[in-house]
Amino acid sequence: MRASVQLTDIMGIGTTAVALLRRLGVATVLDLIENVPRGFDDYSNIQKIRQIKPGPVTVKVTLSSVDGRYSKKGLHITEALARDESGSVRVTWFNQRYRAQSIKSDTEYYLSGEYASSYKYLMINNPTIELASNFPIHTARLVPKYNLTKGISAHQIRKFTKNAFEAIKIRETLPDWMIKDRGLEDRRSALLEMHFPKTMASLDVARRRIGFEELFEMTLASQLNKLEYAKESAVSVPFNKKVVVDFVESLPYTLTDDQRKAAWQILQDMTAGHPMNRLVEGDVGSGKTVVAAIAMVNIHAAGMQAAFMAPTEILASQHAKLLSELLPPEMAKNIVFLSGSMTKKQKENAGAAMASGKAGVIVGTHALFQKHVEFKNLGLAVIDEQHRFGVEQRKKLQGKANAMPHILNMTATPIPRSLMLTLYGEMEASVIAQKPPGRMPIATTVIQPEQRQIMYEKLKATLDEGRQLFVVSPQIEDGLMAKVPRPLSVTSIHKQLSQWFKGYKVGLLHGKMKADEKEQIMQDFIAKKYNILVSTTVIEVGVDVPNASVMVIEGADRFGLAQIHQLRGRVGRGEHAGSCVLVLSENGGVSKRLRLLERETDGFKLAEHDLELRGPGAIYGTMQHGELDLRVAKITDVKLVTEARQAAKQFIDKHESLINYPQLRTRVEHLRKITNLN
Ligand code: ADP
Ligand code: MG
Repeated sequence: MRASVQLTDIMGIGTTAVALLRRLGVATVLDLIENVPRGFDDYSNIQKIRQIKPGPVTVKVTLSSVDGRYSKKGLHITEALARDESGSVRVTWFNQRYRAQSIKSDTEYYLSGEYASSYKYLMINNPTIELASNFPIHTARLVPKYNLTKGISAHQIRKFTKNAFEAIKIRETLPDWMIKDRGLEDRRSALLEMHFPKTMASLDVARRRIGFEELFEMTLASQLNKLEYAKESAVSVPFNKKVVVDFVESLPYTLTDDQRKAAWQILQDMTAGHPMNRLVEGDVGSGKTVVAAIAMVNIHAAGMQAAFMAPTEILASQHAKLLSELLPPEMAKNIVFLSGSMTKKQKENAGAAMASGKAGVIVGTHALFQKHVEFKNLGLAVIDEQHRFGVEQRKKLQGKANAMPHILNMTATPIPRSLMLTLYGEMEASVIAQKPPGRMPIATTVIQPEQRQIMYEKLKATLDEGRQLFVVSPQIEDGLMAKVPRPLSVTSIHKQLSQWFKGYKVGLLHGKMKADEKEQIMQDFIAKKYNILVSTTVIEVGVDVPNASVMVIEGADRFGLAQIHQLRGRVGRGEHAGSCVLVLSENGGVSKRLRLLERETDGFKLAEHDLELRGPGAIYGTMQHGELDLRVAKITDVKLVTEARQAAKQFIDKHESLINYPQLRTRVEHLRKITNLN
C-alpha cells in the first residue's frame, strides 16, 4: 500500500468529485472516512415478498419482465417483476431510463424502498437496487445518510467511503493500554461501524469509541497547555489592600458577592509566581468591567502596566471611555489608546508612551499585541470577549515582557461546566452569576409574522420618545430557492421598514460590508443618526447603545437560545427598561425552546439547554468550521467527559509522549492552538 493515497486514487472519485467533496469539508481520504453519517434509514429487515406490508421494505429478489416506456404525460417508467421463493411483486422506477438495460436476469438483487399503492396497484416504488452480496451499502441494512451538496449523492458518498476503507490502512490513534483499560473498539472497526453498522447496538459501541477519542483529544490539549503555562514564570504581585479597598469604597455602588469573590480570586492568582490564566464569566451587565478594574488598580500599585484588549474598535473605545471614568484619577490620566485605524503619528505617540512606561493603562484592539508594539513592564492583560487566549498569542505577549504577564479573560458567553472541563481545562474560572440589584429583565415576547406590522406600528411611540430600535435577522439576502420557509433578510426588512417608518432614519448593517463601513454605521447609530438599525448578528458582542431599548429578532427560530439571550442583552443597558420581540419565520406554533426565553433570564441555563439540544457547534461560532466540532461525542455526556478526562490525566501521569502517536499529535497540537470561540 502506498504511503499517501489521494482522493483521486479512490475508485469512483474524479476531479469533479474532489471539488464537490471539498465543499463538504472532505479534502483527504481520511476526511472521507471521518465524515460520519448524519443519520440512517433502517432497511435492515430483509423480508419475504409474501410478508411485506405497505411502508419501507427490503427484499432479496430476481427481476424479470423488465420494460421501459413513456407514460401519456411523458414520464419515463421502468417496470419489472420481482420474485423470491415466497411470491412476486411489481416494481417501478420513474425517470431512470438506463434502468432496464442495467438489470441482469438470473441475478439476485436487494431492493429497498417504499411498498405503496400507485395507480391502484400495490408495488415497490423507486427502490434502491443493489447486487445482493454479503456487504451491501445502499440496501438491506442501516443505510447511512450524509450531508450533501449539489452534484453529489448519498449513493456516491457511500461508494466512495466503502472504497476508501479498502484503499487505506487506518491506524490506531490511542495508546494500546488505553484501549485495553477502557475496553474500546479499535479505530478502524469503529469507523467502519459508524458508516455501515451491523446493528443500532454496535453503532453505539462505535460511537462511544470515536466520541471518547474526540473528548480525550480536547481534554489532553487543554491539560498540556495548562502544564506548559505552569512552567512559565510571572511577577508575583502583592495584594495591596489599602489601594484596593480605597478603590472599592470610592465606587458609587457596593460590589455583589460574586464580584467580590471573582476579584479576590484574581488578586490571589496574581500573587503566585506563575501567570494567572483566569476566565471571568458573567452575563451581559453583570459588572465584569469593575472586577477587571480592581485587578488593574492592584497592578498599577505594584508599578506595572495593565492592558485591556477588546475585539473591535468600537468596543475598545467604549472601554477606554468607561475606564477613564471608573479608574482612580491618577490612573485615568495615563490611559493610552491603540487601534489599527489610528494614524501612523498617533500610533507612534502611543507606542512611545507604552515603551517608556508613561502609559500606565493601555486600552485597544488586537493592535496591542502586534510585533512592533512594546511595553515597559506589562503585568496584566485583560482580554474581553475572547474566551481563551491561545498558545500563539501568549508567545507574542511573552516577547513583550521580561516575564509572562497575568492574563484575565472575560466573557459574557456562559460556558457550561462540561465544556469548561474539556476545552478550557487550562483556565481557572470565576462565575458572576448575580446581577447588580435593581436590574430589570428584558421583557421578551414571541409573535407570528402576521403580527409584524402591528408590532412595528406600536414601536413608533417608543421611537418618538427618543429611543432606538435594533432589528436582527440571520439572513443577508433573500434566497432564491427557499425550500424551507426563511425569515426575511436584512435587506428586505430594511426596505420594508424604510416604507413603514417614513420620516424615521433606518440603517442597515451586515457582515458583508467592509470593516470601516460597519464601524461608521455603528458609530452613527450610537450618535443617534438612525432611529432603527437593521442588522445581522454582527452586533452581537458587547456593543453598548444605552439609548436602544427594543430588540426585534426576525426568524428567531433560526437562532440558538444563548445567542438570542446575547442579542437581547444589547438593549436596556441604559436607564430605559429593555424589551425583546421574537418574530417567527412562519406563522405557526411556538416551540418550547422559544417559550423558554419568555420566562428564563439566566444565560447559563439557556446555554446548558442549547448545548444539550444543539451541541457546542451551534453555540460557539468557529466550531462550525470543523475545528472544534464534536462530530460524534455529546459534550453533555457527563460519563464520557469524565472518562476522557481521566484518560488524559493518565496519559500525562505516565509521561507518555505525543511523539509516539503521530496522528494524535497532529490533532492535539492543532487543538492546543485554537484560541477563540467567537
Ligand atoms: P458587563 O459584565 O456586561 O461587562 P459592565 O461591567 O459593563 O457589565 O457593567 C454593567 C453596568 O453595571 C455598568 O453600568 C456598571 O457601572 C454597573 N455595575 C457594575 N457593578 C455593579 C454593582 N455591584 N451594583 C450596581 N451597578 C453595578
Ligand atoms: Mg463588558
